[in-house]
Amino acid sequence: MKQHYDLIAIGGGSGGIAVAKGAAKYGAKCAVIEADKLGGTCVNRGCVPKKILWHAAEIAHNLRLAPDYGFDSSLTNLDWAQLKIKRDTYLKRLNKIYQTSLADFNVDVIKGCGRFIDAQTLEVDGQRYHADHIVIAVGGKPVIPDLPGARYGITSDGFFGLFTQPKRVAIVGSGYIAVEIAGLLNALGSEVSIMIRRQQLLNNFDIMIRESLLGELQSNGVNVLSSMQTQRVTRESDGSLTLVTNREHQITGVDCLIWAIGRAPNTQNLNLDATGITLDSLENIKVDAFQNSNIPGIYAIGDVTGQLQLTPVAIATGRHLADRLFGNQPDSRLDTANIPTVVFSHPPIGSIGLTEDEARKIHGDAVKIYQTNFTPLLHAMTIHKTSSAIKLITVGVEEKVVGCHIIGTNADEILQGFAVAIKMGACKKDFDDTMAIHPTSAEELVLLK
Ligand code: FAD
Ligand code: NDP
Repeated sequence: MKQHYDLIAIGGGSGGIAVAKGAAKYGAKCAVIEADKLGGTCVNRGCVPKKILWHAAEIAHNLRLAPDYGFDSSLTNLDWAQLKIKRDTYLKRLNKIYQTSLADFNVDVIKGCGRFIDAQTLEVDGQRYHADHIVIAVGGKPVIPDLPGARYGITSDGFFGLFTQPKRVAIVGSGYIAVEIAGLLNALGSEVSIMIRRQQLLNNFDIMIRESLLGELQSNGVNVLSSMQTQRVTRESDGSLTLVTNREHQITGVDCLIWAIGRAPNTQNLNLDATGITLDSLENIKVDAFQNSNIPGIYAIGDVTGQLQLTPVAIATGRHLADRLFGNQPDSRLDTANIPTVVFSHPPIGSIGLTEDEARKIHGDAVKIYQTNFTPLLHAMTIHKTSSAIKLITVGVEEKVVGCHIIGTNADEILQGFAVAIKMGACKKDFDDTMAIHPTSAEELVLLK
Protein backbone atom coordinates (compact mmCIF):
# COMPACT_ATOMS: atom_id res chain seq x y z
CA MET A 1 0.00 0.00 0.00
CA LYS A 2 1.20 3.51 -0.84
CA GLN A 3 1.77 5.86 2.07
CA HIS A 4 0.11 9.24 1.49
CA TYR A 5 1.53 12.68 2.32
CA ASP A 6 0.35 16.24 1.70
CA LEU A 7 3.89 17.15 0.63
CA ILE A 8 7.07 15.24 -0.07
CA ALA A 9 10.38 16.97 -0.66
CA ILE A 10 12.94 14.96 -2.61
CA GLY A 11 16.25 16.07 -1.08
CA GLY A 12 17.00 16.86 2.54
CA GLY A 13 19.25 19.85 1.91
CA SER A 14 18.63 23.55 2.57
CA GLY A 15 15.58 23.80 0.31
CA GLY A 16 13.91 20.45 1.01
CA ILE A 17 14.13 20.80 4.78
CA ALA A 18 12.82 24.38 4.63
CA VAL A 19 9.76 23.55 2.53
CA ALA A 20 8.86 20.42 4.52
CA LYS A 21 9.22 22.14 7.89
CA GLY A 22 7.40 25.21 6.59
CA ALA A 23 4.46 23.11 5.37
CA ALA A 24 4.43 21.00 8.55
CA LYS A 25 4.07 24.19 10.62
CA TYR A 26 0.70 24.66 8.90
CA GLY A 27 -0.31 21.12 9.87
CA ALA A 28 0.54 19.41 6.57
CA LYS A 29 1.72 15.79 6.70
CA CYS A 30 5.19 15.92 5.17
CA ALA A 31 8.18 13.75 4.37
CA VAL A 32 11.71 14.39 3.18
CA ILE A 33 13.48 11.79 1.05
CA GLU A 34 17.27 11.96 1.47
CA ALA A 35 19.79 9.68 -0.18
CA ASP A 36 22.76 10.90 1.85
CA LYS A 37 23.24 13.02 4.98
CA LEU A 38 20.63 15.53 6.13
CA GLY A 39 21.64 19.15 5.56
CA GLY A 40 22.69 18.65 1.93
CA THR A 41 25.54 20.43 0.22
CA CYS A 42 25.74 23.45 2.50
CA VAL A 43 26.22 21.48 5.69
CA ASN A 44 28.17 18.47 4.45
CA ARG A 45 30.34 19.65 1.56
CA GLY A 46 29.73 23.36 1.10
CA CYS A 47 29.25 26.52 3.15
CA VAL A 48 29.92 25.12 6.60
CA PRO A 49 33.11 23.05 6.12
CA LYS A 50 34.37 25.76 3.75
CA LYS A 51 33.79 28.52 6.30
CA ILE A 52 35.59 26.51 9.00
CA LEU A 53 38.61 26.23 6.72
CA TRP A 54 38.27 29.91 5.85
CA HIS A 55 38.45 30.76 9.55
CA ALA A 56 41.59 28.60 9.83
CA ALA A 57 43.05 30.56 6.92
CA GLU A 58 42.13 33.88 8.57
CA ILE A 59 43.90 32.74 11.73
CA ALA A 60 46.96 31.84 9.65
CA HIS A 61 46.87 35.32 8.07
CA ASN A 62 46.68 36.99 11.46
CA LEU A 63 49.49 34.83 12.85
CA ARG A 64 51.60 36.15 10.02
CA LEU A 65 50.73 39.71 11.04
CA ALA A 66 51.35 39.06 14.73
CA PRO A 67 55.11 39.85 14.75
CA ASP A 68 54.32 43.28 13.27
CA TYR A 69 52.30 43.92 16.43
CA GLY A 70 55.18 42.80 18.66
CA PHE A 71 54.18 39.17 19.24
CA ASP A 72 56.76 36.40 19.06
CA SER A 73 54.49 34.15 17.00
CA SER A 74 55.78 30.62 17.02
CA LEU A 75 52.57 28.84 15.98
CA THR A 76 53.48 27.85 12.44
CA ASN A 77 52.14 24.36 11.74
CA LEU A 78 48.57 23.37 11.05
CA ASP A 79 47.47 19.85 11.93
CA TRP A 80 45.16 19.48 8.93
CA ALA A 81 43.97 15.98 9.86
CA GLN A 82 43.04 17.08 13.37
CA LEU A 83 41.13 20.06 12.00
CA LYS A 84 39.29 17.79 9.54
CA ILE A 85 38.28 15.35 12.27
CA LYS A 86 37.06 18.21 14.49
CA ARG A 87 35.19 19.75 11.56
CA ASP A 88 33.51 16.44 10.68
CA THR A 89 32.46 15.97 14.30
CA TYR A 90 30.81 19.38 14.19
CA LEU A 91 29.06 18.51 10.91
CA LYS A 92 27.72 15.28 12.45
CA ARG A 93 26.21 17.40 15.21
CA LEU A 94 24.48 19.52 12.57
CA ASN A 95 23.13 16.37 10.81
CA LYS A 96 21.64 15.29 14.14
CA ILE A 97 20.14 18.74 14.78
CA TYR A 98 18.37 18.58 11.40
CA GLN A 99 17.08 15.10 12.19
CA THR A 100 15.73 16.26 15.55
CA SER A 101 14.14 19.41 14.18
CA LEU A 102 12.35 17.47 11.42
CA ALA A 103 11.10 14.97 14.01
CA ASP A 104 9.94 17.89 16.19
CA PHE A 105 7.73 19.03 13.32
CA ASN A 106 6.52 15.45 12.61
CA VAL A 107 8.25 15.41 9.23
CA ASP A 108 9.14 11.83 8.26
CA VAL A 109 12.64 11.25 6.91
CA ILE A 110 12.74 8.53 4.26
CA LYS A 111 16.31 7.35 3.70
CA GLY A 112 17.19 6.44 0.12
CA CYS A 113 17.11 7.63 -3.43
CA GLY A 114 13.73 8.90 -4.62
CA ARG A 115 12.44 8.43 -8.18
CA PHE A 116 9.15 9.18 -9.84
CA ILE A 117 6.68 6.45 -10.77
CA ASP A 118 4.13 9.03 -11.94
CA ALA A 119 3.44 12.68 -11.22
CA GLN A 120 2.11 11.95 -7.72
CA THR A 121 3.97 8.77 -6.80
CA LEU A 122 7.57 8.27 -5.73
CA GLU A 123 9.53 5.12 -5.08
CA VAL A 124 12.34 4.67 -2.57
CA ASP A 125 13.93 1.22 -2.21
CA GLY A 126 10.84 -0.52 -3.62
CA GLN A 127 8.45 1.32 -1.29
CA ARG A 128 5.92 3.70 -2.89
CA TYR A 129 4.80 7.06 -1.55
CA HIS A 130 1.98 9.26 -2.81
CA ALA A 131 1.74 13.03 -2.34
CA ASP A 132 -0.51 15.88 -3.40
CA HIS A 133 2.54 18.12 -3.70
CA ILE A 134 6.04 16.97 -4.63
CA VAL A 135 8.95 19.39 -4.31
CA ILE A 136 12.13 18.53 -6.17
CA ALA A 137 15.02 19.86 -4.08
CA VAL A 138 17.82 17.53 -5.13
CA GLY A 139 20.52 20.20 -5.58
CA GLY A 140 23.50 19.65 -7.84
CA LYS A 141 26.95 18.16 -8.11
CA PRO A 142 30.31 19.50 -9.29
CA VAL A 143 31.12 19.23 -12.98
CA ILE A 144 34.18 17.27 -14.12
CA PRO A 145 35.19 18.15 -17.68
CA ASP A 146 35.21 15.54 -20.40
CA LEU A 147 38.92 15.41 -21.23
CA PRO A 148 41.66 12.78 -20.96
CA GLY A 149 42.87 12.27 -17.40
CA ALA A 150 40.24 14.56 -15.86
CA ARG A 151 39.43 11.87 -13.26
CA TYR A 152 42.89 12.34 -11.71
CA GLY A 153 41.47 15.58 -10.37
CA ILE A 154 39.02 16.06 -7.52
CA THR A 155 36.19 18.55 -6.97
CA SER A 156 35.08 20.50 -3.91
CA ASP A 157 33.47 17.26 -2.65
CA GLY A 158 36.85 15.49 -2.71
CA PHE A 159 38.58 18.53 -1.28
CA PHE A 160 36.55 18.31 1.93
CA GLY A 161 37.52 14.64 2.21
CA LEU A 162 41.30 15.29 2.18
CA PHE A 163 43.12 14.03 5.27
CA THR A 164 46.38 15.73 4.36
CA GLN A 165 46.98 19.25 3.16
CA PRO A 166 47.90 19.27 -0.52
CA LYS A 167 51.20 21.04 -1.06
CA ARG A 168 51.20 21.91 -4.76
CA VAL A 169 47.71 22.60 -6.00
CA ALA A 170 46.24 23.49 -9.40
CA ILE A 171 42.69 24.80 -9.41
CA VAL A 172 40.77 25.09 -12.67
CA GLY A 173 37.88 27.57 -12.70
CA SER A 174 37.15 31.19 -12.00
CA GLY A 175 34.04 31.24 -9.86
CA TYR A 176 33.21 31.24 -6.16
CA ILE A 177 34.70 27.83 -5.38
CA ALA A 178 37.98 28.32 -7.27
CA VAL A 179 38.57 31.67 -5.60
CA GLU A 180 37.61 30.48 -2.12
CA ILE A 181 39.70 27.29 -2.16
CA ALA A 182 42.66 29.09 -3.75
CA GLY A 183 42.60 31.77 -1.05
CA LEU A 184 42.34 29.44 1.89
CA LEU A 185 44.95 26.93 0.69
CA ASN A 186 47.33 29.77 -0.07
CA ALA A 187 46.84 31.23 3.41
CA LEU A 188 47.45 27.79 4.93
CA GLY A 189 50.76 27.50 3.11
CA SER A 190 50.06 25.45 -0.04
CA GLU A 191 51.55 26.50 -3.35
CA VAL A 192 48.52 27.39 -5.48
CA SER A 193 48.02 27.95 -9.20
CA ILE A 194 44.61 28.94 -10.46
CA MET A 195 43.90 28.41 -14.15
CA ILE A 196 41.27 30.62 -15.73
CA ARG A 197 40.10 30.47 -19.31
CA ARG A 198 39.47 34.21 -19.56
CA GLN A 199 41.43 37.23 -18.29
CA GLN A 200 39.78 37.61 -14.91
CA LEU A 201 38.08 35.76 -12.09
CA LEU A 202 34.49 36.16 -10.92
CA ASN A 203 33.39 37.50 -14.26
CA ASN A 204 29.84 38.23 -13.08
CA PHE A 205 31.11 40.63 -10.42
CA ASP A 206 31.86 44.35 -10.66
CA ILE A 207 35.10 45.27 -12.42
CA MET A 208 36.51 46.85 -9.24
CA ILE A 209 36.05 43.54 -7.40
CA ARG A 210 37.63 41.54 -10.23
CA GLU A 211 40.67 43.77 -10.50
CA SER A 212 41.21 44.09 -6.74
CA LEU A 213 40.84 40.34 -6.21
CA LEU A 214 43.35 39.54 -8.92
CA GLY A 215 45.85 41.94 -7.37
CA GLU A 216 45.34 40.52 -3.86
CA LEU A 217 45.65 36.90 -5.01
CA GLN A 218 48.85 37.72 -6.83
CA SER A 219 50.33 39.72 -3.98
CA ASN A 220 49.60 36.78 -1.66
CA GLY A 221 51.57 34.52 -3.99
CA VAL A 222 48.79 32.73 -5.88
CA ASN A 223 49.89 31.97 -9.42
CA VAL A 224 47.00 33.14 -11.62
CA LEU A 225 47.31 31.70 -15.14
CA SER A 226 44.88 33.44 -17.49
CA SER A 227 43.60 32.42 -20.95
CA MET A 228 44.54 28.90 -20.01
CA GLN A 229 42.53 25.80 -20.79
CA THR A 230 43.50 22.32 -19.72
CA GLN A 231 43.45 19.78 -22.52
CA ARG A 232 44.87 16.69 -20.88
CA VAL A 233 46.02 15.46 -17.49
CA THR A 234 48.61 12.72 -17.01
CA ARG A 235 49.88 10.97 -13.90
CA GLU A 236 53.67 10.68 -13.68
CA SER A 237 55.65 7.79 -12.18
CA ASP A 238 56.23 9.76 -8.95
CA GLY A 239 52.45 10.16 -8.57
CA SER A 240 52.38 13.85 -9.47
CA LEU A 241 50.08 15.24 -12.14
CA THR A 242 50.97 17.14 -15.31
CA LEU A 243 48.42 19.44 -16.93
CA VAL A 244 48.82 20.04 -20.64
CA THR A 245 47.14 23.27 -21.70
CA ASN A 246 46.01 24.99 -24.89
CA ARG A 247 49.10 27.20 -24.87
CA GLU A 248 51.54 24.29 -25.08
CA HIS A 249 52.23 25.21 -21.49
CA GLN A 250 52.70 22.32 -19.07
CA ILE A 251 52.05 22.55 -15.39
CA THR A 252 54.05 19.82 -13.69
CA GLY A 253 54.53 18.46 -10.20
CA VAL A 254 50.93 19.02 -9.14
CA ASP A 255 49.92 16.90 -6.16
CA CYS A 256 46.26 17.96 -6.17
CA LEU A 257 44.14 19.10 -9.10
CA ILE A 258 40.79 20.64 -8.23
CA TRP A 259 38.04 21.20 -10.81
CA ALA A 260 35.88 24.19 -9.87
CA ILE A 261 34.08 24.88 -13.13
CA GLY A 262 30.49 24.97 -11.97
CA ARG A 263 27.80 22.54 -10.88
CA ALA A 264 25.18 20.45 -12.68
CA PRO A 265 21.70 19.59 -11.37
CA ASN A 266 20.95 16.13 -9.92
CA THR A 267 18.11 15.49 -12.36
CA GLN A 268 19.33 12.28 -14.01
CA ASN A 269 18.22 9.67 -11.43
CA LEU A 270 14.71 10.96 -10.79
CA ASN A 271 13.03 9.14 -13.70
CA LEU A 272 11.55 12.48 -14.75
CA ASP A 273 10.26 10.92 -17.99
CA ALA A 274 7.46 9.46 -15.89
CA THR A 275 6.22 12.99 -15.19
CA GLY A 276 6.68 15.02 -18.38
CA ILE A 277 8.62 17.72 -16.53
CA THR A 278 10.43 20.22 -18.74
CA LEU A 279 14.14 20.82 -18.28
CA ASP A 280 16.26 23.63 -19.69
CA SER A 281 19.30 23.07 -21.91
CA LEU A 282 21.50 22.51 -18.83
CA GLU A 283 19.03 19.95 -17.40
CA ASN A 284 17.85 22.29 -14.66
CA ILE A 285 14.17 22.04 -13.83
CA LYS A 286 12.30 24.91 -15.42
CA VAL A 287 10.13 26.77 -12.92
CA ASP A 288 8.12 29.97 -12.90
CA ALA A 289 8.47 32.70 -10.27
CA PHE A 290 6.34 30.61 -7.88
CA GLN A 291 8.54 27.48 -8.24
CA ASN A 292 5.87 25.68 -10.30
CA SER A 293 7.18 23.20 -12.85
CA ASN A 294 5.10 22.64 -15.99
CA ILE A 295 3.33 19.73 -14.22
CA PRO A 296 0.65 20.69 -11.68
CA GLY A 297 1.58 19.56 -8.16
CA ILE A 298 5.32 19.31 -8.89
CA TYR A 299 7.63 22.14 -7.88
CA ALA A 300 11.38 22.69 -7.77
CA ILE A 301 13.49 24.83 -5.45
CA GLY A 302 17.16 25.52 -4.83
CA ASP A 303 20.15 24.61 -6.97
CA VAL A 304 18.21 22.16 -9.15
CA THR A 305 16.47 25.14 -10.76
CA GLY A 306 19.82 26.59 -11.90
CA GLN A 307 18.91 29.91 -10.36
CA LEU A 308 21.01 31.72 -7.74
CA GLN A 309 22.84 28.86 -6.05
CA LEU A 310 22.91 30.15 -2.49
CA THR A 311 21.71 28.49 0.69
CA PRO A 312 19.52 31.37 1.92
CA VAL A 313 17.86 31.48 -1.51
CA ALA A 314 17.02 27.75 -1.38
CA ILE A 315 15.64 28.16 2.14
CA ALA A 316 13.62 31.27 1.32
CA THR A 317 12.04 29.77 -1.81
CA GLY A 318 11.12 26.67 0.23
CA ARG A 319 9.47 28.77 2.92
CA HIS A 320 7.57 30.90 0.40
CA LEU A 321 6.33 27.77 -1.35
CA ALA A 322 5.08 26.31 1.93
CA ASP A 323 3.32 29.62 2.74
CA ARG A 324 1.68 29.60 -0.67
CA LEU A 325 0.56 25.96 -0.67
CA PHE A 326 -0.52 25.63 2.97
CA GLY A 327 -0.49 29.08 4.56
CA ASN A 328 -3.21 30.73 2.50
CA GLN A 329 -0.73 33.21 0.96
CA PRO A 330 -1.36 32.76 -2.77
CA ASP A 331 1.11 35.47 -3.80
CA SER A 332 4.01 34.30 -1.67
CA ARG A 333 7.19 34.03 -3.69
CA LEU A 334 10.82 35.06 -3.52
CA ASP A 335 11.64 38.64 -4.47
CA THR A 336 14.86 38.16 -6.41
CA ALA A 337 15.85 41.84 -6.44
CA ASN A 338 18.89 42.80 -4.39
CA ILE A 339 20.04 39.45 -3.09
CA PRO A 340 23.36 39.99 -1.31
CA THR A 341 26.21 37.55 -1.77
CA VAL A 342 29.62 37.05 -0.21
CA VAL A 343 32.66 35.32 -1.65
CA PHE A 344 34.85 34.00 1.15
CA SER A 345 38.06 34.89 -0.59
CA HIS A 346 41.11 36.45 1.08
CA PRO A 347 40.15 39.23 1.56
CA PRO A 348 36.41 38.55 1.39
CA ILE A 349 34.00 40.13 -1.07
CA GLY A 350 30.48 41.41 -0.44
CA SER A 351 28.21 42.37 -3.29
CA ILE A 352 24.59 43.40 -3.81
CA GLY A 353 22.62 44.83 -6.71
CA LEU A 354 23.87 45.94 -10.09
CA THR A 355 27.48 46.03 -11.21
CA GLU A 356 28.68 49.29 -12.77
CA ASP A 357 28.44 47.75 -16.27
CA GLU A 358 24.88 46.54 -15.66
CA ALA A 359 23.83 49.89 -14.18
CA ARG A 360 25.23 51.83 -17.14
CA LYS A 361 23.50 49.50 -19.61
CA ILE A 362 20.15 50.04 -17.89
CA HIS A 363 20.41 53.63 -16.64
CA GLY A 364 23.04 55.25 -18.92
CA ASP A 365 24.06 58.75 -17.84
CA ALA A 366 21.87 58.66 -14.75
CA VAL A 367 24.51 56.52 -13.05
CA LYS A 368 26.86 58.13 -10.54
CA ILE A 369 29.66 56.13 -8.95
CA TYR A 370 31.26 56.65 -5.55
CA GLN A 371 34.42 54.65 -5.00
CA THR A 372 37.33 54.45 -2.60
CA ASN A 373 40.41 52.33 -2.01
CA PHE A 374 42.10 52.31 1.37
CA THR A 375 44.34 50.33 3.69
CA PRO A 376 42.46 49.32 6.85
CA LEU A 377 43.96 50.42 10.18
CA LEU A 378 44.81 46.76 10.93
CA HIS A 379 47.46 46.98 8.24
CA ALA A 380 48.88 50.39 9.24
CA MET A 381 51.32 48.46 11.44
CA THR A 382 52.04 45.53 9.17
CA ILE A 383 54.58 44.90 6.44
CA HIS A 384 52.24 42.85 4.25
CA LYS A 385 49.20 44.98 3.55
CA THR A 386 45.76 43.98 2.31
CA SER A 387 43.86 46.84 0.78
CA SER A 388 40.12 47.40 0.70
CA ALA A 389 37.89 48.85 -2.01
CA ILE A 390 34.30 50.03 -1.94
CA LYS A 391 32.01 51.06 -4.76
CA LEU A 392 28.54 52.51 -4.44
CA ILE A 393 26.46 52.73 -7.61
CA THR A 394 23.69 55.30 -7.57
CA VAL A 395 21.02 56.32 -10.06
CA GLY A 396 19.06 59.51 -10.74
CA VAL A 397 18.81 62.87 -8.99
CA GLU A 398 17.87 61.21 -5.72
CA GLU A 399 20.95 58.99 -6.08
CA LYS A 400 19.18 55.76 -5.23
CA VAL A 401 21.72 53.09 -4.38
CA VAL A 402 21.38 50.25 -6.90
CA GLY A 403 24.67 48.49 -6.25
CA CYS A 404 27.22 48.13 -3.49
CA HIS A 405 30.47 46.20 -3.84
CA ILE A 406 33.10 45.72 -1.15
CA ILE A 407 36.37 43.82 -1.08
CA GLY A 408 38.51 43.87 2.02
CA THR A 409 38.83 42.70 5.60
CA ASN A 410 35.36 42.14 7.15
CA ALA A 411 33.49 42.80 3.87
CA ASP A 412 31.58 39.57 4.56
CA GLU A 413 30.18 40.93 7.82
CA ILE A 414 29.81 44.55 6.68
CA LEU A 415 27.49 43.88 3.77
CA GLN A 416 24.53 42.37 5.63
CA GLY A 417 23.45 45.60 7.36
CA PHE A 418 23.91 47.70 4.23
CA ALA A 419 21.87 45.10 2.33
CA VAL A 420 18.89 45.93 4.56
CA ALA A 421 19.21 49.62 3.71
CA ILE A 422 19.57 48.96 -0.02
CA LYS A 423 16.64 46.53 -0.03
CA MET A 424 14.58 49.27 1.63
CA GLY A 425 15.49 51.67 -1.19
CA ALA A 426 18.19 53.78 0.49
CA CYS A 427 19.64 56.78 -1.35
CA LYS A 428 23.14 58.22 -1.07
CA LYS A 429 21.79 60.93 1.29
CA ASP A 430 20.64 58.23 3.73
CA PHE A 431 24.20 56.94 3.77
CA ASP A 432 25.53 60.51 4.25
CA ASP A 433 23.07 61.17 7.08
CA THR A 434 24.22 58.07 8.98
CA MET A 435 26.88 58.77 11.59
CA ALA A 436 30.14 56.93 10.98
CA ILE A 437 31.40 54.35 13.45
CA HIS A 438 35.05 55.17 13.93
CA PRO A 439 37.59 53.69 13.40
CA THR A 440 36.18 50.90 11.21
CA SER A 441 36.32 49.91 7.57
CA ALA A 442 32.52 50.03 7.39
CA GLU A 443 32.50 53.78 8.05
CA GLU A 444 34.02 54.33 4.60
CA LEU A 445 30.60 53.46 3.18
CA VAL A 446 28.96 56.46 4.82
CA LEU A 447 31.88 58.82 4.12
CA LEU A 448 32.03 58.46 0.34
CA LYS A 449 32.40 61.78 -1.50
P1 FAD B 1 21.41 20.62 -1.60
O1 FAD B 1 21.79 21.29 -0.34
O2 FAD B 1 22.48 20.18 -2.50
O3 FAD B 1 20.49 19.37 -1.17
C1 FAD B 1 20.07 18.42 -2.10
C2 FAD B 1 19.95 17.09 -1.38
O4 FAD B 1 19.25 16.19 -2.22
C3 FAD B 1 21.30 16.43 -1.09
O5 FAD B 1 21.39 16.16 0.29
C4 FAD B 1 21.29 15.14 -1.92
O6 FAD B 1 21.90 14.06 -1.25
C5 FAD B 1 19.78 14.90 -2.05
N1 FAD B 1 19.40 14.12 -3.24
C6 FAD B 1 19.81 14.28 -4.53
N2 FAD B 1 19.14 13.42 -5.33
C7 FAD B 1 18.30 12.72 -4.53
C8 FAD B 1 17.33 11.71 -4.77
N3 FAD B 1 17.06 11.27 -6.00
N4 FAD B 1 16.67 11.19 -3.71
C9 FAD B 1 16.90 11.64 -2.45
N5 FAD B 1 17.79 12.60 -2.17
C10 FAD B 1 18.47 13.15 -3.21
N6 FAD B 1 25.96 29.03 -0.48
C11 FAD B 1 25.94 30.08 0.37
O7 FAD B 1 24.90 30.74 0.51
N7 FAD B 1 27.05 30.44 1.07
C12 FAD B 1 28.21 29.77 0.97
O8 FAD B 1 29.20 30.12 1.62
C13 FAD B 1 28.26 28.65 0.10
N8 FAD B 1 29.39 27.93 -0.02
C14 FAD B 1 29.41 26.84 -0.83
C15 FAD B 1 30.60 26.13 -0.95
C16 FAD B 1 30.66 25.04 -1.77
C17 FAD B 1 31.95 24.27 -1.89
C18 FAD B 1 29.49 24.63 -2.49
C19 FAD B 1 29.55 23.42 -3.38
C20 FAD B 1 28.31 25.33 -2.39
C21 FAD B 1 28.25 26.45 -1.56
N9 FAD B 1 27.11 27.21 -1.44
C22 FAD B 1 27.09 28.30 -0.61
C23 FAD B 1 25.89 26.86 -2.20
C24 FAD B 1 24.89 26.10 -1.33
O9 FAD B 1 25.54 25.00 -0.72
C25 FAD B 1 23.72 25.60 -2.17
O10 FAD B 1 23.17 26.69 -2.87
C26 FAD B 1 22.63 24.95 -1.32
O11 FAD B 1 23.14 23.88 -0.57
C27 FAD B 1 21.49 24.46 -2.22
O12 FAD B 1 20.52 23.81 -1.46
P2 FAD B 1 19.54 22.77 -2.15
O13 FAD B 1 18.55 22.39 -1.10
O14 FAD B 1 19.07 23.27 -3.44
O15 FAD B 1 20.44 21.51 -2.50
P1 NDP C 1 30.65 29.23 -10.65
O1 NDP C 1 29.47 29.18 -11.50
O2 NDP C 1 30.71 30.24 -9.58
O3 NDP C 1 31.97 29.41 -11.51
C1 NDP C 1 32.43 28.50 -12.42
C2 NDP C 1 33.19 29.25 -13.47
O4 NDP C 1 34.20 28.42 -14.01
C3 NDP C 1 32.33 29.66 -14.63
O5 NDP C 1 31.64 30.82 -14.35
C4 NDP C 1 33.35 29.81 -15.75
O6 NDP C 1 33.87 31.13 -15.68
C5 NDP C 1 34.44 28.81 -15.37
N1 NDP C 1 34.36 27.63 -16.23
C6 NDP C 1 33.27 26.95 -16.65
N2 NDP C 1 33.62 25.92 -17.41
C7 NDP C 1 34.96 25.94 -17.50
C8 NDP C 1 35.91 25.12 -18.15
N3 NDP C 1 35.54 24.07 -18.87
N4 NDP C 1 37.22 25.43 -18.00
C9 NDP C 1 37.62 26.47 -17.27
N5 NDP C 1 36.75 27.29 -16.63
C10 NDP C 1 35.44 27.02 -16.73
O7 NDP C 1 30.78 27.74 -10.09
P2 NDP C 1 31.45 27.16 -8.81
O8 NDP C 1 31.65 25.74 -9.12
O9 NDP C 1 32.59 27.98 -8.36
O10 NDP C 1 30.29 27.31 -7.73
C11 NDP C 1 28.98 26.86 -7.99
C12 NDP C 1 27.97 27.74 -7.31
O11 NDP C 1 27.94 27.47 -5.91
C13 NDP C 1 28.30 29.23 -7.40
O12 NDP C 1 27.82 29.80 -8.58
C14 NDP C 1 27.58 29.79 -6.19
O13 NDP C 1 26.27 30.10 -6.52
C15 NDP C 1 27.62 28.64 -5.19
N6 NDP C 1 28.67 28.92 -4.21
C16 NDP C 1 28.47 29.97 -3.37
C17 NDP C 1 29.42 30.33 -2.48
C18 NDP C 1 29.18 31.49 -1.57
O14 NDP C 1 28.04 31.93 -1.45
N7 NDP C 1 30.21 32.04 -0.94
C19 NDP C 1 30.68 29.60 -2.36
C20 NDP C 1 30.79 28.50 -3.29
C21 NDP C 1 29.81 28.19 -4.19
P3 NDP C 1 34.37 31.94 -16.99
O15 NDP C 1 33.21 31.91 -17.91
O16 NDP C 1 34.69 33.26 -16.43
O17 NDP C 1 35.54 31.19 -17.52
